[in-house]
Amino acid sequence: MSGVCAAMTAPLLGWYDAGHRDLPWRASPTPYHVWVSEIMLQQTRVEAVRGYYDRWMQALPDIRALAAAEEAVYMKLWEGLGYYSRVRNLHRAAVEVCAAYGGALPADYDKLRALPGIGEYTAGAIASIAFGLPIPAVDGNVLRVAARLDNDFTPITDAKYKKQTRTRFAALMPADRPGDLNQALMELGAMVCLPNGAPLCGDCPLQHLCLGYHHGNAAVLPMRAAKKARRVEARTVLLIRCGGLVGIRRRPDSGLLAGLWELPALDGALTPDEVRQALAARGWQTSKLLSLRPAKHIFTHVEWHMTGYYLELAAPPAELTFVTPADLRAAYALPSAFRSFLSVLEGEA
Ligand code: SF4
Repeated sequence: MSGVCAAMTAPLLGWYDAGHRDLPWRASPTPYHVWVSEIMLQQTRVEAVRGYYDRWMQALPDIRALAAAEEAVYMKLWEGLGYYSRVRNLHRAAVEVCAAYGGALPADYDKLRALPGIGEYTAGAIASIAFGLPIPAVDGNVLRVAARLDNDFTPITDAKYKKQTRTRFAALMPADRPGDLNQALMELGAMVCLPNGAPLCGDCPLQHLCLGYHHGNAAVLPMRAAKKARRVEARTVLLIRCGGLVGIRRRPDSGLLAGLWELPALDGALTPDEVRQALAARGWQTSKLLSLRPAKHIFTHVEWHMTGYYLELAAPPAELTFVTPADLRAAYALPSAFRSFLSVLEGEA
């Protein structure tokens, strides 16, 4: 047999056992550790997650600590990881787990799946790795490996394809090591069967079963449905100073970067004169205005093209919150979209 089949489990587990990455969440794969790491790893590289994971576990070592944490604390711990609905859902789910399950994640796929922010993949990862249940964990990495193994040109973004792949992997789960099989697949996708046309087939324990490799298609697979173009938004970001403090504001509770703090911004790419006029119309008197280096930030569906200004105001407007640069760094979660403008404050207390 070849492609995704029962014959792949033994060589894959053997390869995994022979050596895999030493990741902090693998040292003690409790349900909480697996859960937090898998949520952090969505859309984020392993290397970027390591530091976040360690800081998180020091501050919020268990589900009860997370459930009891103030919003400012968990948002700050997440600052820069992006996709902030993930951390809000982590907190909401922790509160729910404390209320419904006495503070311990349930050893049940459907109950896990019903918690905020836990989808099929994460529920499968927690169920298999932490509880030893024979449930697959199929994400984009695993879909890529499957499409190559099968030499299948169906777009992996297709919901039906994903469902079928999940069903096929479910049939392969070994009763004794389901978590290890899922982790071995993740490891293969991360270290060998690499994305963007760069699989290292010469190092692959599944090469003898891989139809994509044998047909010379490994580098062109998987197929994806064409992406919609991102919307471009021009914004003028203001680093506002008043008496040594920095002006920030909270974003609305829904939509992009909901509820996070931000540097104030105006729509469009404004010239210095246009900024002065826009602020004067609000009654804000600008005493100094300097251009900052423009910046770009890419979200899933939107790109911000940002013009930036450093400006000083004579008096602090009531619409903004003014904090010291040190407090801003320590206690307020600002999205990484503003990082380049904030570099002006480096070294200030
Ligand atoms: Fe991926 Fe190549 Fe291995 Fe096939 S042989 S699973 S394409 S790394």
